Amino acid sequence: MDITENVFKLADEIGPERVVFLYEPRTQMKAIVVVDNVAAGPAIGGVRMAPDVTATEVRRLARAMTYKNVMAGLPHGGGKSGIIADPKTVNKEHVIRTFARAIKSLEEYIPGPDMGTDESDMAYIYDETSRAVGLPLELGGIPLDEIGATAYGVAVCTEVAKDYVPLDMNGASLTIEGFGNVGRPTARFLAERGVKLIATSDSKGTIYNPAGLNVEELIRIKDTTGSVINYKDGQVLKSTDLLMIKTDIFVPAARPDVVTDANADVVDAKLIIEGANIPISETAERMLHERGILVIPDFVANAGGVITASVEYHGGTETQAFERIKSTITRNTKEILDAVKNEKTYPREAAVRIAKQRVLRAMKYREWM
Ligand code: NAD
Repeated sequence: MDITENVFKLADEIGPERVVFLYEPRTQMKAIVVVDNVAAGPAIGGVRMAPDVTATEVRRLARAMTYKNVMAGLPHGGGKSGIIADPKTVNKEHVIRTFARAIKSLEEYIPGPDMGTDESDMAYIYDETSRAVGLPLELGGIPLDEIGATAYGVAVCTEVAKDYVPLDMNGASLTIEGFGNVGRPTARFLAERGVKLIATSDSKGTIYNPAGLNVEELIRIKDTTGSVINYKDGQVLKSTDLLMIKTDIFVPAARPDVVTDANADVVDAKLIIEGANIPISETAERMLHERGILVIPDFVANAGGVITASVEYHGGTETQAFERIKSTITRNTKEILDAVKNEKTYPREAAVRIAKQRVLRAMKYREWM
């Protein structure tokens, strides 16, 4: 299919407003930027760096950001970018600065950190463009990964959603796919609420112990050896085996599309909180719903990071960010789950309907649109 056809195939009444392909011939830096919608304000969205990131993925993630930002009541639209490179093998500062110079004129896009990028990368982008969120402390940033902003929101969301299952948090089992910036603090925040982590994974494999894993020890092992599979007191399985483990709560916190129609039937959980972006395909979410598994969509559950980024951008503090995460995610989770109960719909359908109405209302205020 022609590239133009592919890009416009997914366009609708909301966006995307701009799809930009970047190529810098000297360094061969390749990137995609999608600005989905800016009716509420300049688009905030992460910069993903991965060798296999695609335009379709960036496009879907940009839409998720439009919905996430509008649901969180932020004065920002949604966007996303993907740099096609392996962060482990390239000269990252050089690639990031090249990317930043290429997006300097794209003023309606404010970059933030995502998989493969961090606060230092945002500092380089800020240095080149004077626009970035998720900055280091020294530049006035709130270190959102260090404080576990997204994970805190995931924990808040779990606390609200558990009443709709219903589920007792105390002693409930938990599996987490991916033990990175979202996965690790999610394990911590949920452990504080009495939940028992029984399995987690990274790109090297899964560690499983039905009697429970010690979260602090696991974090130490991941930090010192590079993988959770080096934790001693547990069974080592393949990364993909995590999905099949029977659990009360499952938090996907790694790559997109880990659950699709092809494997949705093996998932054995009562409640799924989407810590990652687009971890479950829409049809798989419906299949899970039909099997009585409650799935809270990404743009509702994992908004903690972007709420913090927006608080930072507008000069607020860490305390204000935590308060806003709690109030926003509590309200949104309840609103969506009440709609599911009363209207016999499923969570993503309810969430998309509410988010879309808000974007369309924001668009009405903008004469140029
Ligand atoms: P990260 O790079 O810190 O961690 C990702 C983890 O996933 C790592 O432990 C990695 O080993 C693991 N992983 C990679 N491939 C895997 C595989 N095939 N199986 C199992 N584990 C695998 O990234 P992150 O910041 O924690 O982000 C994770 C997800 O959450 C992404 O989808 C991201 O877009 C989303 N998200 C992150 C934030 C944030 O604040 N960091 C906010 C919202 C959404």
